[in-house]
Amino acid sequence: MGQGSITRRYRFCAAHRLHTDHLSVEENRVVFGKCNNPNGHGHNYVVLVTIGCPSTVQSRQAVGIDELDRIATERIVNRFDHHDLNQDPEFATQTTTGENLVLLIWDLLVPQIPDGQLKKVAVIETRDNYFEYMGAAPFAARS
Ligand SMILES: [Zn+2]
Repeated sequence: MGQGSITRRYRFCAAHRLHTDHLSVEENRVVFGKCNNPNGHGHNYVVLVTIGCPSTVQSRQAVGIDELDRIATERIVNRFDHHDLNQDPEFATQTTTGENLVLLIWDLLVPQIPDGQLKKVAVIETRDNYFEYMGAAPFAARS
């Protein structure tokens, strides 16, 4: 039987700087370009969260839109909005790339949603940069 899905859109504004201590100053500049600017810069991030439709999920605990909005606001928007991503404890040893951010957002949401209902998380960072994740391995296991 097919399963429909719902995607909700959330927004937050945050600063960051792409930089890793594993590279030299010059290498960081080459790899990350202007995103390595020592003063940092900001983005108006858009987060797209896709869940299986509550009516078709095989669980009495299925999350509805209101509940998803509450979870995403508490776990994602309140955590990152008007913050410096480089100061977030989860980014202490990770570069604040869109790839890493989308993995972290998945890991912050997935424990709050019944098994299998979270289908995809996507992050739009800029007009031309879009990241998405549909996997399941814990964030820490990938570091
Ligand atoms: Zn950036």
